[in-house]
Amino acid sequence: MTFKNRAPASVAPISGRRASVAPDWRAAHLLLSRPSNGETAIIASCPAKDSGGLLTARILNGNAIRDQIYGELAGEIASLASAGIKPGLAAVLVGDNPASKLYVNSKIAACGKLGLASFMVTPPATITTRELLTLVGELNRRDDVDGILVQMPLPPQVDAKRILDAIDPAKDVDGFHPLNVGKLVAGKPNLVACTPAGVMEILRRSNIPLEGADAVVMGRSDIVGKPMALLLMHANATVTVCHSKTRNLPEVVRRADVVVAAMGRAAMVTQDYIRPGATVIDVGQNVIKDAAEAERIFAKFPEKIESFRAKGSVLVGDVHPDVIETAGAFTPVPGGVGPLTIAMLMSNTVRAARLRRGTSVPAAAGVRN
Ligand code: NAP
Repeated sequence: MTFKNRAPASVAPISGRRASVAPDWRAAHLLLSRPSNGETAIIASCPAKDSGGLLTARILNGNAIRDQIYGELAGEIASLASAGIKPGLAAVLVGDNPASKLYVNSKIAACGKLGLASFMVTPPATITTRELLTLVGELNRRDDVDGILVQMPLPPQVDAKRILDAIDPAKDVDGFHPLNVGKLVAGKPNLVACTPAGVMEILRRSNIPLEGADAVVMGRSDIVGKPMALLLMHANATVTVCHSKTRNLPEVVRRADVVVAAMGRAAMVTQDYIRPGATVIDVGQNVIKDAAEAERIFAKFPEKIESFRAKGSVLVGDVHPDVIETAGAFTPVPGGVGPLTIAMLMSNTVRAARLRRGTSVPAAAGVRN
C-alpha cells in the first residue's frame, strides 16, 4: 500500500505568487510539508506561467493531502489494532440511486484500503421512517460499529431529519447530529462535517494564513456552508456567508482573501469575483452534459473538451476554470476538495472508535477533527 508521493528533500518550501516560475504547472510540483513519519509529501504545485505567459495559481492537490492524511491514519489504526481494536463504519444505502451507490462504494473501498471494518446495509427504496429508525437503532447498539453514515438523499416517504437525529452522536461520523453541530458552534468540535473539515485540512497543510483573513463562504447549507463558516471563524478569519439572496455578490466575494464556493452552480464564480492572489476553494461538483456549455466553460482547456467528447460529460466546480489566472491558490475539480471528504470520514471513524472505546491511543499527528 503506497500513500506517499515522494519528492527530493532538497526542494525548498515556497509560498505566494512570487515563487519561481516553472514551465508547466501540471508538472511543476512543490514540497510543502513533511508528515510526522519523515516522508515528504507533494501537496501543491507552484505558480507557473501558462502558455500565454500569465502567472497561474498554485494548485492545491487534494489527492496528495488525502494520501498524507491516510499515511497518518495508518499509524493510528495500527496502534488501535495492537490494542485489539478495529474501527468499523456502517454505511446505509437506501434504494438504488446510482450516484449514491458510487459514493458509498468509494467510502467502503477507502475503509478496505486503510484496514477499517465496513458494513454495508442496503434496505429497499420502499422502507418507511419507522423501519429505518429501527435499523439505525440496531447499528447504534452494535459494538463493532463505531461510525454510522446514512447516504442522502433518502426516498421522499422517509423523514430524513428524524433519521439523522436518531444516530448516536458518538457514532455520527458525518457530523450532522444537532449535538455535534452544537459542539462546533461552541468551539468544542468533536465529529465535524467531513467536507468543511477537509477544506480546513487543505488550507492548514498548504500554509494558507487564516488569522485575520477575510473569508467568504458562498452557500449556507447545513452540510457545507454553515459548518465551513464556523470552522473559519474559529480559525480567527473574518467570515462573510453569502447565499442566493446576497446583493452585489461579485463585489462581496472580491473582498476575500479566501473564498470557499459551495453553491452547486456550474462555473458561476468567474474571474471578476476574485481578488488577484486570493485562495479559492471549490467545493462544487457539477456534471456538464451539454456540449456547447462544456466548450464555453473549458474554452482554454482543450484536454477537458476532448475528455467531454470521449465520455459525453465533464465535471466542473462552482468556480470557472479561468480563475486559475487570477487566484493565488486554487483547488482543482476533480482532485481538490472531493478526496478530502472521504479522508475526513475515515478520520472521523477512527476518532469515533478511539473516543467511544475510551482508549488512550493519541490522535494521529496533524489530524485535527
Ligand atoms: P445546497 O444544499 O443546494 O446549498 C447551496 C447553497 O448555495 C444554498 O445556501 C444557496 O442559497 C446557495 N446558492 C445557490 N445558488 C446561489 C447563487 N446563485 N448565488 C449565491 N448563493 C447561491 O448545496 P450543498 O449540499 O451545500 O452543496 C454545494 C455544492 O457542493 C454542490 O455542487 C455539491 O455537489 C458540492 N458538494 C461537494 C462535496 C465534495 O465532497 N466535494 C461534498 C458536498 C457537497 P440559499 O440558501 O439562499 O438557497
